[in-house]
Amino acid sequence: MDKVSVLFPLPLPEPFDYRAASAMGIEPGMHVIAPIGSRLVRGVVWGVERNNPAAANLKAIEEVLPGPPVPEISRTFVDWAAKYLVRPPGDLMRMVVRSPDALFPPPTYTVLAPTGETPPKLTEARARVLEEAAKEQVNAAELSRRAETSSAVVKGLVDCGALVKLEISEDPPYPAPDLSRTGKDLSDIQQAAAEEVCASVRAGGFHVALLDGVTGSGKTEVYLEAVAEALKLEPDAQVLVLLPEIALTQAAMSRFNARFGVTPVEWHSAIPQKARRRAWREITAGRARLVVGARSALFLPYKNLKLIVIDEEHDPSYKQEEGVIYQARDLAVARAKLGECMVILASATPSLETLVNAQLGRYAHVKLAARHGVAELPDVELVDLKDSPPEKGKWLSPKLVRGAAEALLRGEQALFYMNRRGYAPLTLCRACGHRMKSPETESWLVEHKYSGRLVCHLTGFSMPKPKACPECLTPDSFTSIGPGVERIEEEVREHFPEARIEIFSSDTTPNGDAVRDLVARMENNEIDILIGTQIVAKGHNFPNLTFVGVVDADLGLKGGDLRAGERTFQLVSQVAGRAGRHEKKGRALIQTYAPHEPVMQALAAQDRDAFFAAEIAEREAAGMPPYGRLAAVIVSAPSEQLANEASKTMGEKAPIVEGLDLWGPAPAPLSVIRGMHRRRFLIRANRGVDVSAFLAAWAGRVKLHSAVRVQIDVDPYSFL
Ligand code: ADP
Repeated sequence: MDKVSVLFPLPLPEPFDYRAASAMGIEPGMHVIAPIGSRLVRGVVWGVERNNPAAANLKAIEEVLPGPPVPEISRTFVDWAAKYLVRPPGDLMRMVVRSPDALFPPPTYTVLAPTGETPPKLTEARARVLEEAAKEQVNAAELSRRAETSSAVVKGLVDCGALVKLEISEDPPYPAPDLSRTGKDLSDIQQAAAEEVCASVRAGGFHVALLDGVTGSGKTEVYLEAVAEALKLEPDAQVLVLLPEIALTQAAMSRFNARFGVTPVEWHSAIPQKARRRAWREITAGRARLVVGARSALFLPYKNLKLIVIDEEHDPSYKQEEGVIYQARDLAVARAKLGECMVILASATPSLETLVNAQLGRYAHVKLAARHGVAELPDVELVDLKDSPPEKGKWLSPKLVRGAAEALLRGEQALFYMNRRGYAPLTLCRACGHRMKSPETESWLVEHKYSGRLVCHLTGFSMPKPKACPECLTPDSFTSIGPGVERIEEEVREHFPEARIEIFSSDTTPNGDAVRDLVARMENNEIDILIGTQIVAKGHNFPNLTFVGVVDADLGLKGGDLRAGERTFQLVSQVAGRAGRHEKKGRALIQTYAPHEPVMQALAAQDRDAFFAAEIAEREAAGMPPYGRLAAVIVSAPSEQLANEASKTMGEKAPIVEGLDLWGPAPAPLSVIRGMHRRRFLIRANRGVDVSAFLAAWAGRVKLHSAVRVQIDVDPYSFL
């Protein structure tokens, strides 16, 4: 009799124990069905104690499911991540076992194939069937349709052995990458970088390398070499490449295809269930060798993962903010450490955390200095809005307009960057001053002119723009305050009535197809002026774009969170980096009211090192990440009173820990979301303090009303 502990994909604190006959041969990682109360639930075996008589009193394992066991490294990672993030391990396991159907052999379908035997009686109809069957293997009904004959004729050919039935898997294995191919001829700098990362891959074990080079310097070409090297290590060696945006996957896919002759396996939230099943099965089996995906791909049960590449490692979308809250880049490094594999972090504007790790020698710092080929960095200039203001009620200073006009005159393209969707961030009643707010979050509703609606960008709530003020009932009294991309478009059209102008934001390009289409038109010079939100900052390469105007560089600084300066620097320099990526020299103008802020000075001088040196000094002095640790706890309740009471109780129960500061409770900046009143605690701790253990101990001490929700965010990025 064995004692078997099973972890279920449910928010339970730990695995449950069962008994199983030793003859069942249950091993850790196997998929089983076991009872919880009166329900039968699928789970994964987390531990086995052989020949434990005490198990006799336990409930029995109901069934062992087929399919490869969850590898030990995945189980270790689940346990580690659950502890680190202070989440039930089952919540993380659910992210590993993402396609339950994939445990079973794939469904098949039947086709008919010619055997080469000639039937005894070769009628005209039979000949037609054989001719069609030779063209393509299809099922009997389709074959008789194509040969324009009855199903009896087809059946006759099967009976006499001229056709044979074949069972074809719906999920065939993916073709293997062709490792005999070679990449582009690398420049000396690229070659040196490639050799360094490839040597680390060959050495094996845990390494992290920061691949640091301006946009266009060939980081992708270099990491493709490391990918090739890792795939060559072993016949089932696997590589995972994480990208921040699904919209970027297609471009990346074609580059991988060009390099390895096969399309990588894709994994993100939008892939259909059948593709998911196939991918999961092949990843577990070690036959899917090259996986390109979004952050959730990190949790899949790779059989033999050797390399993880994180492209645009600084991108905030690696932080998952809903459900299980995690930072995929950080977890990838942890996963690699547990599984002894290599990580490449690629960025033109690395996160401060990563730069510090590189400076301290924890990560190798591999630099790619110049742009590939003749392309030079753009000239960047600040436009002080106090000195050269736009006209009243407008947003573009004359300098910005002139910059774009010059580019257009040369037959080149211009980009205006405005990181706000919609038309105007605030709708105000001229008669009574009423501000249109979201009923769910108390935040301002953003006017969208194209859709005629007012939208909450946090929750997606939207309503038609009312005809009259709901407060004072004055008709047509609304005025729009501040700009969004749509309003900038209006202004650009006034200046350039002849130009072909488009908006690039998640509203105008809601899916991958729309993004591809717009990017293609921009590449083909079918657009003169693009007006975009941060979506344009990511990875796109427009050969004829030579002017970038940043309409409001101060916008990102207004949030007041820890990374505001860093984010502004990253975004604006990435946007400015869109200009002049090819033979033509680019120019970027940055509008700001704060030209003396260090971040603006650094942008103008394109002096990343100076900017980061100043940021790093500030963070170090304040004990902020990476020199200290942060965590947030958000308490939410359906009434204000309950939220106050619950957070007060929590505050009183907090353990006192040396080297750890607890701030709060305070109303969260977004104090109400969807009827839930929110209170925040912020925890700052010295590096040596085990913040996760503190949070777990704290959570263990409090019993709260069942309507109260407590959300723990380890290493927070959002301070709302
Ligand atoms: P990054 O990832 O740093 O932005 P990429 O690897 O995407 O840079 O390179 C930018 C562009 O330059 C791409 O179109 C790429 O194919 C091209 N490129 C880079 N290095 C080379 C090379 N050695 N030979 C030919 N083309 C290159």
